[in-house]
Amino acid sequence: MEELWTPWRMRYITSPPPKEGCVFCRLLGGDGATELVLSRGQHSFVVMNLYPYTVGHIMVVPFRHLARCGELTADELSEVVHSAAHTERVLRDRLGAETVHYGINLGRPAGAGVEGHVHLHLVPRGGRIPIHGSDGDLPVPLEETTRVLRDAFASETGPHRP
Ligand SMILES: [Zn+2]
Repeated sequence: MEELWTPWRMRYITSPPPKEGCVFCRLLGGDGATELVLSRGQHSFVVMNLYPYTVGHIMVVPFRHLARCGELTADELSEVVHSAAHTERVLRDRLGAETVHYGINLGRPAGAGVEGHVHLHLVPRGGRIPIHGSDGDLPVPLEETTRVLRDAFASETGPHRP
């Protein structure tokens, strides 16, 4: 299996949690990198990862600040999974991903960069997906990937756009 070597993430992993609160809740409140939000549903939203493993690394995040999947309602879980499936299709169709890794890290020992607010990672791989270089440079600017994916979410029929 191809390894993802992302040493620049160490600063992020080892840094203390932000004093100003949860980054996802701040995004929902209109604070932070709101330009990275691709879509909003009834219970969750889809957002680009500011510290991506690969180009097109996206997260699906429930609105409510809950630490565990078991605390989410059936409706919330359903929407998160449906949004993830829609996002997967966008990553395959628009970025040429061959496959997509799904992942949930609960707690810092499991690798969670944001603790306390459960979120589902989608990391596209293979096909035309570039992996970031070991020097931390982005092979494709995050802004460019965000623009392409935001257009895709705006134009395609997803689970929240019947
Ligand atoms: Zn939160």
